[in-house]
Formats: sequence, C-alpha cells, structure tokens
Amino acid sequence: MKTHIAKLSVFTLLFISFSAFGEEILDLEEYLGPTKETIRQIRSEWHSYLTPSQLKIEEETSFSVRMSWNSNGYSSRNCRTNENRKITITAGQMFMLNMLSENQMWLLAGQSEQCFTAYLDHVSDVFSQNSKAVAYNNQLTPMFTPMLFAHRYHGTCKQFSQLPMPQSQWSSLQESFIKASLRMLLSHELGHQVNNHGCKKLTNSESREQEAKADSFAVNLIIKQDPADILGAFALFTFWSVDGAMTSSDEFGNTHPAGLRRLRSALDAVSHELNKGKSSKFYNYLIKNDKLVYFKELVDMLHKKTEALD
Ligand SMILES: [Zn+2]
Repeated sequence: MKTHIAKLSVFTLLFISFSAFGEEILDLEEYLGPTKETIRQIRSEWHSYLTPSQLKIEEETSFSVRMSWNSNGYSSRNCRTNENRKITITAGQMFMLNMLSENQMWLLAGQSEQCFTAYLDHVSDVFSQNSKAVAYNNQLTPMFTPMLFAHRYHGTCKQFSQLPMPQSQWSSLQESFIKASLRMLLSHELGHQVNNHGCKKLTNSESREQEAKADSFAVNLIIKQDPADILGAFALFTFWSVDGAMTSSDEFGNTHPAGLRRLRSALDAVSHELNKGKSSKFYNYLIKNDKLVYFKELVDMLHKKTEALD
C-alpha cells in the first residue's frame, strides 16, 4: 500500500533545481529489458488475486515483448485446443506509455491542457509516421520528450525550468504510472484469454462488447490490488483515446469502445469500491491516511472531465 502515498503525493509539489531538458528519442531497444522485468513483477503480483481457474490460464500463457513501432497488445491462442496462449505487447507501445506517463505528470504539475493535448497529437503523428517509415525503409521521425516538446512549442506550453519534485521522487512516480498502465494493458489481454475471446469473426459492435468485457475484467482485478492504479494508468487511457475513437459518437466504425468511455467505466468501478465504505480495504486505507476526500475529489474531477469531453 506504500505506493498509494507516492501516487497521491503528486500534487504536493516541491521545487528543486533541474538541469536536463530531455532529448529526442529513437531507441526502442532500451525499453525491452525494463519492460520484461516489469511484466515479471506484475505476473507474480497477480497470483494472490486470480481465481484458481484464471491462474491456470495465466500460467499457460506466454508473455512477450516484440520490437515494433506499432503500438499494440495482442492476445492469441489455438482456437481448437485452447493451447499456445500468447500475450504480446510491442516495445513501441511501452515507449509511448513512457512518454504519455511523463505527459500526465507534467499536467499534474501545472502544464497547460493545450500543451498536454498538442503533445498527444505529436506522439500519435510520430507513431503513425514511423510505423510507415519502417515498412518503406525510410528514415524515422524523432519523438520529443514532453519536456523538450514544451521548449519547442513555447507559445502553447508553459516553461518549467525545474522538476516539480526531487528527481528520485519524480522517477519513482513515473515508474509507478508506467507500471499501472502496463498492469491495465496486460490485465486487459488476460481478460481476453480467460473469456476465450479472439477466435470468431465479429462485427464492430460485438468486438466493442468483448473489449468492454476484457476492460471490466482488468479493472476488477486492479481494484482488488490497488484502486489508485486506475488513476495511475491514465496514460494508457489517453493512448486508447488517440489510437482509436476518443468520444462515444465516433466509436461506431471502431472495434474498440471510445477511450473516454473506457476511462469513465473504470472510474465508475473505483467509485463503486469507495461506496462500499468500511468493507473496502482501500476505503479504510484512505480514511487512515486522511486521503478519502482528496481521492474522491480526484475521481469526481476526472469523471466530470470525461463527461464534458465525450
Ligand atoms: Zn482488447
């Protein structure tokens, strides 16, 4: 439960000097090792929260990271025998989650919403350019870190000359956000495995139903472990919004529900957990640390925001 404190303290900002402004990044390879390690941790942490039948499927599934500029998670199995279950995520997706988690942190530290959104566009443009560039053997386009992006687009973005908290605290917070997103992503894919999805040709609306089911599996699993991770995984929800439909009115041609709708369902599940009152471990934790009002406000604020934008 110690990570709650780190996550909740993001608004309690301390100013110290900060010199590195970040740089352009192109190297996907550097995400490989740390991602594999985080996957290993997430899988071992799942063990006490899965039912025996879910755990059996989880253990039969092999997890891997593929070097690719595509940003995706995949879940597959042999449809006849249910063997050969696989969950694959791409290094590109991890790269994106790293950048978007940092973007989320700057928003919490006071960056303008316009800059936050402009950065989402930047990330999404670079990704689509690079996935094409790889296919045609063209040069890759560099992606800026949120810090460097803010310096380049100073009309839109506020300039920060310092990190809003000590470097070590900033890095560990960023790590916990990235892990929360990865946990949500892997739990979603595991949701497809335990529901034996993926072997029938579906209409878009059937597919959206399955996706919502996998989300609901993931959200319930995360809430059992640590409901604050739903907020920590904000980067993944923003990615889902830029990758597919953002609002409910655009989702009809899509295989996935709109990003804002997915986030709202997850926030509803967090509110439901808090409404259980004293029978919820997380509720008791928040009461004990005098964070209940604060956390509820944060959830309500995000919920209202998704409603206003949708
Ligand atoms: Zn899915």
